[in-house]
Amino acid sequence: MIPVTKPYLPSREALDRYLDGIYERGWLTNNGPLVQELTARLETYLGVDNLLLVSNGTLALQVAYRALGITGRLEPTEAITTPFTFVATASSLKWDGVSPVFVDIDPYTWCLDPAQIVAAITPRTRAVVPVHVFGNACEVEAIDSVAQLHGIKVVYDASHAFGVTYKGESLLKHGDAATLSFHATKLFHTVEGGAIVFKCKEDLERARQMINFGITGPESIDEIGINAKMNEFQAAMGLCVLDEIERNLAARKAVWDQYMTALGNKMVFQKRTLGATNNYAYFPVLLESETHVKKVIARLNEQGVLPRRYFSPSLDCTSLYGPANSPVSQDIATRILCLPIYSEAPADHVANALEIEYE
Ligand SMILES: *Cc1c(COP(=O)(O)O)cnc(C)c1O
Repeated sequence: MIPVTKPYLPSREALDRYLDGIYERGWLTNNGPLVQELTARLETYLGVDNLLLVSNGTLALQVAYRALGITGRLEPTEAITTPFTFVATASSLKWDGVSPVFVDIDPYTWCLDPAQIVAAITPRTRAVVPVHVFGNACEVEAIDSVAQLHGIKVVYDASHAFGVTYKGESLLKHGDAATLSFHATKLFHTVEGGAIVFKCKEDLERARQMINFGITGPESIDEIGINAKMNEFQAAMGLCVLDEIERNLAARKAVWDQYMTALGNKMVFQKRTLGATNNYAYFPVLLESETHVKKVIARLNEQGVLPRRYFSPSLDCTSLYGPANSPVSQDIATRILCLPIYSEAPADHVANALEIEYE
């Protein structure tokens, strides 16, 4: 079977060397040496400051909201976000008592439409949570300036945007915070894990206390905290995956290029934002109709290929997060299909299976 993605497994020998070190030290968690090493190496690799490793990408969002004062308030609070995303973007808000208010996406980039953000701002709005969906950069300048003008925070869910640069600098530098997911299925992973990149050092320091129960010293507790610490085994995996990231990226680019050669003039694709790089994390295509999507899935399944309908349904159409208010997102969600992409995914086989469908 050819799944939509496969976790990247780095050299076993390299991982064993890190595990030997963990056994020798007997230091398994609580900001251990490997977590510190991975923090420093990721800051260098990504070209950012103020990076905090956490135990998963959902907690990265939740801790970012807390550290920025978006959650944990007594009054009713809203955050403007996109319905075309993985459910964690919205569930992390609702879990902490903030109402996600959906604003529709741009029909070409599939990211939040900045013009529509302004119209959705109310006195209860504390934040906007845009998603760089499929690693495509949001209109960061427009979003950042709208937020500044209205005194609201910006947290980018950058779970798909590992390593993406915009105008020559890390995309993660935009917003008051940007969060990453290092789940096994993501481009860069630590089995489970995540990170927050803060604009301000003070926010980073507050979050650093928050992820360790709010403890600030042997006998002091200064914040309401949670346990969101990354452990040494996660960091060991991350260091090994990072050591091989260039090879992984090159292999993914090769798969991407094969798809483009085979399908480039037959299908509709996401419009990539000018000035931003591609990290080849996903290969989404937009088909003519939901009926066509179902036909293509059936055909690909016959050939052992398991594409996925990321992200469907549009979150505004679910009973938990409705009411339905985003027709563009709904339209894209019914016609989207993500094709398998991972190091050495058999793109030619997948494209050939699609060719039959397109004859
Ligand atoms: C994967 C993902 C998350 C959640 O990350 P976890 O590490 O699985 O908790 C959040 N948002 C988006 C857009 C994602 O793709």
